[in-house]
Amino acid sequence: MKITNPATGAVIADVAVDSTAAVRRKYAAARVGQAAWGRTPIRKRLATIAAFRERIVAMQETLARTLTEEVGKPIRQSRNELNGLLTRLDFFLAESLRSLREEKVFADAGQKLEERITHEPLGVVANISAWNYPYFVGSNVFVPALVAGNAVLYKPSEYASLTGLHIAEMLHEAGVPENVFVPVVGDGATGATLLRQPIDGVFFTGSYATGARIAAAAGKQMIKVQLELGGKDPIYVCDDVDIKAAVAGVADGAFYNTGQSCCSVERIYVHASIYDAFVAAFVTAVKGFRLGDPMDEATYIGAITRRAQLDVLRKQVADAKKKGARLLLGGEVVKAKGNWFAPTVFADVDHSMALMREESFGPIIGIQRVDDDDAAVALMNDTEYGLTAGVYTHDAKRARKILAQVRAGSVYWNCCDRVSPRLPWSGVGHSGIGLTLSTYGIQTFTRPKAWHLRGA
Ligand code: NAD
Repeated sequence: MKITNPATGAVIADVAVDSTAAVRRKYAAARVGQAAWGRTPIRKRLATIAAFRERIVAMQETLARTLTEEVGKPIRQSRNELNGLLTRLDFFLAESLRSLREEKVFADAGQKLEERITHEPLGVVANISAWNYPYFVGSNVFVPALVAGNAVLYKPSEYASLTGLHIAEMLHEAGVPENVFVPVVGDGATGATLLRQPIDGVFFTGSYATGARIAAAAGKQMIKVQLELGGKDPIYVCDDVDIKAAVAGVADGAFYNTGQSCCSVERIYVHASIYDAFVAAFVTAVKGFRLGDPMDEATYIGAITRRAQLDVLRKQVADAKKKGARLLLGGEVVKAKGNWFAPTVFADVDHSMALMREESFGPIIGIQRVDDDDAAVALMNDTEYGLTAGVYTHDAKRARKILAQVRAGSVYWNCCDRVSPRLPWSGVGHSGIGLTLSTYGIQTFTRPKAWHLRGA
């Protein structure tokens, strides 16, 4: 499989894809590996994750550069991702023992009865991953899965294979056996082959369309399925905000990672009384985002990782224009080697437009005028997705009232495009099933076993 730098179009590597026979062999090896790993004391398993953390610190700049070359992410944002990874690892290192400890939930001396819960590993699990934040979305799964005693068959996205192979190498150097964390290299066909093995669970991060296929495949096997899928995440800006501060937050939320985040701001609703001022300030802010060589320290907008996405963006632009939206900035592919799309801002959009309904996953955004909070809530909920949603207002009570009505896994007050390891990361509707992160996102890699113990 040829690996192409999306910023230049140049082939930067050639990696071997796993054949069906290789996937079968890897599965069989992981089954053997898991039996021993599951019996390894949790403190020893945690020690390997601590050593993995040290490897990342030592390799940080090399890893950031590989990530930038492979996915076109601006180098500063690649470094940010690695720094964020360290914080997540710290969370897992601090919280896993507490989350996975055996619990005594009942004891009665008279009846000589005790009830206990243990958290058993699921067994051999598949981790099929996305390319947009390979360190984040990967580690949310494979770290707690390994700590909980599972073997992991890890299929990185075909657009982030080099990063996936770096991860495998570092985990192995850190002491995770090669038959316990097993990379599987290839595209969707390889992922489908992986799902045909008798695995015990599949943890997927990617698009809704692929997620639906994964769920169907896993349904037959009757295994645990977790799907972290896309979003069409809205922000509502109320009439009482500091416009400058709100614009800065929301523009960053929409364009960071070149808009290729599951929780990127994808729809903006602005109260009519500040609409014009907000739109003008927003366009000025986006004009300040520098597009260019992702290796350049000053670059904020990088390349579009998947070439096919350029067509999605072009179509959304054409559809919005045709339906009467006002194009204020960008709106076209940048003519250069590689895959580039100009930062694009539309005003006066509505929900008849694909731009406000379908995941854009690129540097493009629509702004819609709303008359009051009820109208904003109705529009925010008018979507098949439900990953995140946010509101900007000075009024805490108003924020709470609005966010309580919004159907989304995560809600934000005066912030957006934010993930915390301490909080569960989940979606509703087409945004997925299950969760990662937080104590629940550690326990999710286990099967609670019920112990009824009566003394003789
Ligand atoms: P994708 O669905 O194209 O691919 C994801 C993974 O699935 C890849 O590894 C791919 O090779 C594999 N795959 C494809 N077809 C398969 C099949 N039939 N069987 C098994 N595996 C198969 O998604 P992508 O382009 O890599 O990622 C972008 C999407 O991921 C966006 O929709 C984004 O919102 C979403 N995402 C969600 C989260 C979240 O936490 N909710 C995080 C990051 C990305």
